[in-house]
Amino acid sequence: MPVKNRFAELLPEITAWRRDFHEHPELLFDVHRTAGKVAELLRSFGCDEVVEGIGRTGVVGVIKGKTDTSGRVIGLRADMDALPIIEQTGVDYASKTPGKMHACGHDGHTAMLLGAAKYLAETRNFDGTTVLIFQPAEEGGGGGREMVNDGMMDRWGIQEVYGMHNMPGIPVGQFAIRPGAIMAAADQFDITVTGKGGHAAKPHDCIDTTVVAAQIIVALQTIASRNVDPMKQVVVSVCTVQTDSTAHNVIPQVVKMKGTVRTMDPAVQDFVERRISEVCAGVATALGAKAEVNYQRGYPVTINSDTETEHAINVANAVSGKVDTNTAPLMGAEDFSFMLNARPGAYIFLGNGDTAMVHHPAYNFDDNAIPFGSSWYAGMAEARMPAA
Ligand SMILES: [Zn+2]
Ligand SMILES: [Zn+2]
Repeated sequence: MPVKNRFAELLPEITAWRRDFHEHPELLFDVHRTAGKVAELLRSFGCDEVVEGIGRTGVVGVIKGKTDTSGRVIGLRADMDALPIIEQTGVDYASKTPGKMHACGHDGHTAMLLGAAKYLAETRNFDGTTVLIFQPAEEGGGGGREMVNDGMMDRWGIQEVYGMHNMPGIPVGQFAIRPGAIMAAADQFDITVTGKGGHAAKPHDCIDTTVVAAQIIVALQTIASRNVDPMKQVVVSVCTVQTDSTAHNVIPQVVKMKGTVRTMDPAVQDFVERRISEVCAGVATALGAKAEVNYQRGYPVTINSDTETEHAINVANAVSGKVDTNTAPLMGAEDFSFMLNARPGAYIFLGNGDTAMVHHPAYNFDDNAIPFGSSWYAGMAEARMPAA
């Protein structure tokens, strides 16, 4: 099963879909045009069922194989949403909506899965059912969680689920994956430090919240450097600091900070959440102020199950023969994690070549990756449900 010849024939068509999505980026759950076009194409391929509005604006397509003696159901997932970035690629199919851009390649993922859907609907050379999952709001909205909460896994009886993401820095045609944790959990926190504002020339009459906040920022660095086992991955970043003073000579009453926590291990995640509160409370108390912490859990760790990772590797090997099976995990997060928490499965990276990194205004998905990605998606269905 090398790159399927059919995808060489379909490449101009799949590329045209990709570039159309690229020209018309939509954010979060507001992917109405994209989802509408996905549903329309799935219907035109002759899918047995196409349902819109799953997880608000997600789309599910169902393709039955020539036979179904296995009773097996395999889910293949792509994401559809773009990012609030001003595009600087200079391509002639650049975003027509200033301030919105497909800077994470979800246009490519959606097009590649559509290509696989077209091929699978034509050939149906498998024994079971393929469920195509097109999700909204990967970039922070939890669209994957919404689709799972909407009952998608049970409604279609999905037994295994597979996802893919392009990755700059890996040559086109190469895959990268690892069993276990591959992407981090991403949580966020808000810290409010309250003291006593006043005249900057009379600090002794104030409780200076800027000094407290500064000490908290430094003390939080000890969670990664002094508290967590150096062999475990953790990131604690304070990213915004805002005071309620706008003057050179006024000590603020309140300082607000925001930041993110990335972890790979639930025990470390629990520990960091607790430790941030302890450090903030302790430092604030020592300096006579108060610190309130609001910690919000975001996307969980993306965990590839062992057996399904092997299946994903086998298909990637068959497609291109170039698979890094022990790629380093990334501290970014991915809401395919909600689907992997619901069902066994795997998430694989597909090389995007020497391009700008995802989320950069000059990033662009490489259309040369399409035959590899579509072949992998289609190959997962055929390999996991071999024709009877
Ligand atoms: Zn992204
Ligand atoms: Zn992405």
